[in-house]
Order: sequence, then structure tokens, then C-alpha cells
Amino acid sequence: MKVAVPLTWLRSKLFWKIAGLYVLLSVPAMIGLIASVVSQLSSQGRLIHQRECQALLEQIAADISTTDDVPSSLRGWQPKLNSGQKVWVTNSAGTNLGDPVADAITDIALESVVRTALQTGQAARQIRLGTSLDDVLALAAKVERRPPGANGTATESLVVIMVSDAAQSNSAVTQLTTTAVRTAIYTWLLTGLCLCLVAAGVVAPLQAMSLKLQTTVMRNEREDMLLSVSDRQDEVGQVASALYVLEDELQDRIQSLEKAGQEATAAADLLTAVLESMIEGVIAIDQEQRIVYLNQGARKLLSIGEAIRPGHRLYEAVRIPAFLETIEESLSARRALSLEYRSPRDKAHHVLSVTPIVHSSYAGAVAVVRDISEMRKLEAMRRDFVSGVSHELKTPLTVIQACTDTLLGGALSDQEAAERFLKQIEEQSERLLQLILGMLQLARVESGQEVLHTEDLDAVDIVEDVLRDFRTVASSRGVELRRSGPETLPMHTDEQALRTILSNLVDNALKHTDASGKVTVELSLVGNSPCIAVRDTGVGIPEELLGRIFERFYRVEKDRSRARGGSGLGLAIVKHLCLALKATIGVQSRLGEGSCFTVQFPA
Ligand code: ADP
Repeated sequence: MKVAVPLTWLRSKLFWKIAGLYVLLSVPAMIGLIASVVSQLSSQGRLIHQRECQALLEQIAADISTTDDVPSSLRGWQPKLNSGQKVWVTNSAGTNLGDPVADAITDIALESVVRTALQTGQAARQIRLGTSLDDVLALAAKVERRPPGANGTATESLVVIMVSDAAQSNSAVTQLTTTAVRTAIYTWLLTGLCLCLVAAGVVAPLQAMSLKLQTTVMRNEREDMLLSVSDRQDEVGQVASALYVLEDELQDRIQSLEKAGQEATAAADLLTAVLESMIEGVIAIDQEQRIVYLNQGARKLLSIGEAIRPGHRLYEAVRIPAFLETIEESLSARRALSLEYRSPRDKAHHVLSVTPIVHSSYAGAVAVVRDISEMRKLEAMRRDFVSGVSHELKTPLTVIQACTDTLLGGALSDQEAAERFLKQIEEQSERLLQLILGMLQLARVESGQEVLHTEDLDAVDIVEDVLRDFRTVASSRGVELRRSGPETLPMHTDEQALRTILSNLVDNALKHTDASGKVTVELSLVGNSPCIAVRDTGVGIPEELLGRIFERFYRVEKDRSRARGGSGLGLAIVKHLCLALKATIGVQSRLGEGSCFTVQFPA
């Protein structure tokens, strides 16, 4: 976001600090630089001036050495001299030979220059003439020449003297120096301006940042902290203060975020643990039917291998067409659907419930699969029970009704027929009574209403009693009924329940054993557990039906069993009594060879 801060940087303390620092550092540096440049230029200027004067002097000296008229020669050179230059010629005695263009040599400094020139041929020196305050350059050159009108080889020594005012001749140098100083000042000002612009460029965003940060701090009601963290009053100090406070704030937020993250992780872990421990299969998919999550229950129920992971397509995991179609329909129609199907693997009954997820950031569906085989089995059992009860009631009632009709139709007058029909009515009534009593007992035992009174007893006594009750029936059917095992078998159990169990088992054994067969009640001790087995040499039970004979009304050979007075409830009652006594019951049987029902009581 752009924050406009027009010219407010001029009020910035930081800006004026930078500007002051620039002036403080740059002014001495600039003065030093200018001084050094000026000194360099003036020394260079002096050298150039001396060389120029030297060259001019040499030309004049050469001219003088050949001329007889020194004054006119000097006058000839006069236009070539500048206003600060003077030239004259003296002989070795110091007499001025030229025009009085120059003063006589009365200056001691100049005399010394002339003397040096006479001795060495040339001399150049900065001197101060008379009472003048400025230095001048004095040059002298010795000239050897034949005196005018003289014959032979006699020579005389003359000295050409030049005095030049450096200030006059060095105007170029002065000009250069002025330009250099002016340039330096302009550069300084320009640099200052650039620095101001740069500083303004830095300060303006800093001011904006400071303003924004302070607004944020105040919004968070932490302004009391601002002054306590920095003593600096400029923008850097303000930004630093605000940043310190915000850093503090940030720490708090990071901590609360970390805490929230931990809580979210814990919640996610809990959710995963809950989902993983569900028996139901749960699969979450996205709009493209890509698996987002699937629990162990789903893997188990739908036989999904570990190779299938979130990210895979649903059709890679499940290959049940109806299943996939239901999910697709639910996703496209955005409504909950359910489907009951048989698992192709084990034919178990499954129910699939698909619920679309309609969430602003996430769209998909959750599929829940439940195994309802047990429920379906219970339903089937209930249906069987109802039809079993109806059937069991129907047969005796039909007989009773038929007998009654016959009697009412005139059979009553026939004494013998009447007795026969009444006997049948009595038998069927007895059967109905037994059936109802059996159902009531089963209901009581199943619901735990049957009160059991466990006591110490000898199983041999109970077995003997039961065998006595069945002896007549056994002998009438030609079946041998006997007991084997120890003469005493102490037990701690409910006597009546034990009698019911034994009576049912012995009754069944006798019912399903043909004449000349054998029924044996075997008593034994397996470890510390008393064990009673009822073995017969009867018709036996097909192996695949062994698991079903304990169901209510289930009969292997329906007619035979019914004809022998069985209600189909005997083994169901035995099973539930065993459960109540914490005993286990098992059966072994071979078709045509006989069966053996074994009850093992707790030690
Ligand atoms: P029921 O009253 O009809 O005998 P049960 O519940 O006692 O009913 O027995 C269920 C079925 O189990 C019987 O109808 C019979 O077909 C079979 N069964 C029970 N005991 C024997 C046995 N000892 N030998 C052969 N079949 C048996």
C-alpha cells in the first residue's frame, strides 16, 4: 500500500541530522582540497613564469651580445615585455648601459643576483625589491662580447637583468585557481543537493513506515511500550520502538499460534484415533473421487491393500460397480444416498451411506460402509422364529380343530371314535402346552430371568434320576440306556438346570436312535472340570448342519423329529442354560454312526 507523505521529510529530524553531518564533514574537506589545488597551481605557475622569462632573457642576451647599440636593442625588445617586466643591461662594474628604462641597481638583493650571474653565467631568484611587499622574479644573464670599436680579442662582460612581477604575469594561473574554487563550490552544493534528495528518499519511506507501525501498535493498544524501548527521537528511533513492540506482539502471536497448532494437532490425532478404531469403514473423497482419507475399517471391509493411499482414485481401491455408481450419483446430485450390497469377497451384507460434503473450501463426500450381516442374520432368525412358532402352533391346532369338527359332526355318539378323537385332542393340547412351556423357559433363560441356585451335588445322582425317567421309553424303543464313568462326580451347579440339560440330551439321543441302538451318559473329569457326554449310536447329523441345531425350531429331519414329539426348542434351551451355568457345550456327529453331545462344567 502506498502512503503519501508530501514534503514532510523536511520536518524530519533524521533528514536534518544527515544534512548537518554532511556540512560538518564536507566543509573542512572542501577547504583542504581547495588549498591544496591553489598551492599546486601557484607553484606550477611560478615555474612556467620563470621558464618564459628565462627564454626571453636568453633571446635578449643573444641580441645584446651582437649589438653595438645596447639602448636601441633594448628599446626594440620593449614591446615584447609585459607591464610587469623590466629589462636593463649593466657592465661588470654595475653601470647601466641601456636606456633609462630601468632604475640603477641600488637594491642589494638585485646586486647579489647580478654578482651570481657574473660568476656562474646565469642567475634567477625570487627577491623583494626595496620596500615592496611582493616578491618579484629577478633573472640575470652574463654576456661576453667584443667592445664596440675595439680590435683584437679583448672582451667585456655585460649582464642582462630582468625583473618580472609574478602577480602580473600569473593571471592565467589566478584564473585557473578561481575556476577550480568555483567548481569545487558548485560540486559541493550539487553533492549536497543530491544527498538531500537521497536522504529525503530514505526518510520519506521511513516516516511512512514509522507512521504505519505506530498506528498498528496503537491499534493493538500497546502505545505505552513505545517510549520505553528507544531513546532516539527521530524516525529510526520511532521505527525501532514500534518494531520492538511489534516483535513482542509477534512473539505473543507466535506462541498462541503454536498453542493453537498443538491443540489442532491433538484434535486431529484424536479424530484419527477415533476414526481408526471404528469398525465401520470410512472413506473421504474429493470432487474428483480422489481418496482423501480412509480408515482401517474401510481397508478391512473393502479389502483395500496398503498400496492404496490418499491421492489414489476411488475406482483403484474399490471395484464394486454399484458402490462406485452410488458415490458418483451422490457427488453429482449433492445428496445423501445409501446402498445395500453383498460383498463380492465373502458375501457379507454391507450398507454404504454416502454424504456429500458441501463446504466453502472443500467439496467431496464421505462414504461410510457397515457390515450388517449380523443384523440380517438376527432378522432371518426372527423370521424363522415367527414362522417356526406359527408352524408349531398350527399343526396341533389343526388336529384339535379337525377332531372337534368330527366330534361335533356326529362322532360323539360313537363312543369308541369319540374317545379316540378326545385322546388326540388331549395329546395335541399337551404338545401345545409343552411348546408354550418350552418357549417361556427359553425366554426366561435367555433374558436371565431364570434364577439359578448353585449348590454342591453329585452329578451321578442326577444322571441316575434322569436315566430312571427315560428307562421305560428306552426299553419301549429297544434302545440300551446306560451310564459310564466314576461312581461319584461332585459338582457345584444348579440341580434343576442340570436335570433339564440332561433330559433334553437323553431325550434327543433316544428319539434319534433306532431299535437295538445304544445311548450312554459318560461322566468324567477333564482336569478339574466335571464333564458329562451323551453319546448315541443313532442317525447322526450332517456336519454342515451341526452349527444350526442349537437354533430355535431348527430340525434336521423335520418330520421324524416332529413325529417324535420334539418342539425344536430343546437344544436352544440347553445352549442358553449352559451359557448361564458358564458351561461349554460341543457336538460331534457322523451321519449314520451317531452323535455325542459334551457339556463341560466349570472347575
Ligand atoms: P427337537 O425338540 O425337535 O428335538 P432340539 O432342539 O432338541 O429339537 O433338536 C434340534 C434338532 O437337532 C432335532 O430336530 C434333530 O434333528 C437334531 N438332533 C438333536 N439331537 C440329535 C441326536 N442325538 N441325533 C440326531 N439328531 C439330533
